[in-house]
Amino acid sequence: MQRFQQYIDGLFEDGTSRFDSLDPASGEVWASMPEARDDDVDRAVRAAEQALWGGAWPAMTASARGKLLYKLADLVQENAQRLAELETRDTGKIIRETSAQIAYVAEYYRYYAGLADKIEGATLAIDKSDMDVWTRREPVGVVAAIVPWNSQLFLAAVKIGPALAAGCTLVVKASEDGPAPMLEFARLVHEAGFPKGVVNILTGFGASCGSALTRHPGVAHIAFTGGPSTAAQVVRNSAENLASTSLELGGKSPFIVFADADLESAANAQVAGIFAATGQSCVAGSRLIVEASIKDRFLAMLKAKTAAIRIGAPLDMATEVGPLCTRRQREHIESVVAASVSAGAKVVAGGQAGEGHGFYYQPTILDCDGVNSPSVETELFGPVLSVVSFSDEIEAVRLANDTRYGLASGVFTQNLTRAHRMVKRLRAGIVWINTYRAVSPIAPFGGYGQSGHGREGGLAAALDYTRTKTVWLRTSDEPFPDPFVMR
Ligand code: NDP
Repeated sequence: MQRFQQYIDGLFEDGTSRFDSLDPASGEVWASMPEARDDDVDRAVRAAEQALWGGAWPAMTASARGKLLYKLADLVQENAQRLAELETRDTGKIIRETSAQIAYVAEYYRYYAGLADKIEGATLAIDKSDMDVWTRREPVGVVAAIVPWNSQLFLAAVKIGPALAAGCTLVVKASEDGPAPMLEFARLVHEAGFPKGVVNILTGFGASCGSALTRHPGVAHIAFTGGPSTAAQVVRNSAENLASTSLELGGKSPFIVFADADLESAANAQVAGIFAATGQSCVAGSRLIVEASIKDRFLAMLKAKTAAIRIGAPLDMATEVGPLCTRRQREHIESVVAASVSAGAKVVAGGQAGEGHGFYYQPTILDCDGVNSPSVETELFGPVLSVVSFSDEIEAVRLANDTRYGLASGVFTQNLTRAHRMVKRLRAGIVWINTYRAVSPIAPFGGYGQSGHGREGGLAAALDYTRTKTVWLRTSDEPFPDPFVMR
């Protein structure tokens, strides 16, 4: 059985308590993980505070910070395959996806490495002739970064990269489900040569480790990715210390197909949108909103593509859909699909758990037209597509926006003016036109409504990890004037 360690103040530790991690493809225990308790969280935050204010980190130039980030990017790239295998083993996410995604994670660190020495203050054209006034962008402080089990290295990179570029220090909490790649990544942070305490990586249970971290008075900002109900708890905890928050939450993203679309392309993108990563993706295009006149034709195309999907062992490069990460996740999907079918949804494909001991669920399509199906509203975080149809553009927009979420959306049409109208009307942080599930370190990412607030990716994300300090310098040699008049 493999044994992983947590990383606090530059040291690898077993921790005082441990828990077992299951292989989702077999349901068997395969590794032992440290369980961070309150005292571990406290030590990690104190280490991050010390590193923020003293020692080598604050003395370093922004360019030197950038060079460390470049080094980390190179190490991630060199070790991408090993990290991918660990993520696949521990979460069941297929190796085809993890190996490509982790290789690309290196680009996020490169992007923020390049930004580190471009975070600038300003000289102000102040309205007082005897003053020079300028601003400095300073690190916001100790950042608590909390990530869920899906795409942990990726979701951590969009927090760690900009936070380090801005000069912050971090305590990262990996998920209790599938933490292996994050704990292994800690070794790369160490090898890159970051001063001790700058990045600390723990894993443990949300209710204990996550709660202790988000309540800790030493934390200045919480960067959280997860579900909306956990986010509400995190915000309540943050209120104790008035820490700022950025929240990347769930979604129930609409995938809209107009009759004039390139249907072959749209069908492939829809398969990517709902079945890639076994549907365990915050941007999953889980609601197909299709123009009524092409609904039957488009569903027939999707059904054929779904039948051809290779379901198998996550470590096999040929596999296209693997298991879900946890048994409870599969049970959640089973219960929502059962309730949807009881409500009248028709099963077009799948609709059942896979065979064997692993946490498999069949790629599923539910026709929910004219039915009040829970699958249309509930984020399932699995390979289940709910289909509804529309008769005109106004109805398409209404159906698309009929959600408490607002993370991503997809529009397939050949009509340029319609595409522009849809961009303006869709209530979502991302609109993909004639494509889906594309990401880049250069492009901001985040949601509306229950999908959270704040943006990851791009320049603005790095600025979100800074605070502005305003400096006033009096340039006159005259005595300080009347003390009872505001200047
Ligand atoms: P959760 O909200 O259950 O967990 C997310 C993280 O929060 C985990 O590390 C979890 O720890 C931790 N946590 C749990 N309880 C607390 C608490 N009280 N205080 C602090 N931290 C806590 O999400 P899931 O793991 O179920 O992940 C799936 C969700 O994440 C989906 O809703 C998905 O859409 C969303 N997501 C959003 C993305 C985005 O960028 N918008 C990207 C990917 C996923 P533990 O695992 O130990 O419980």
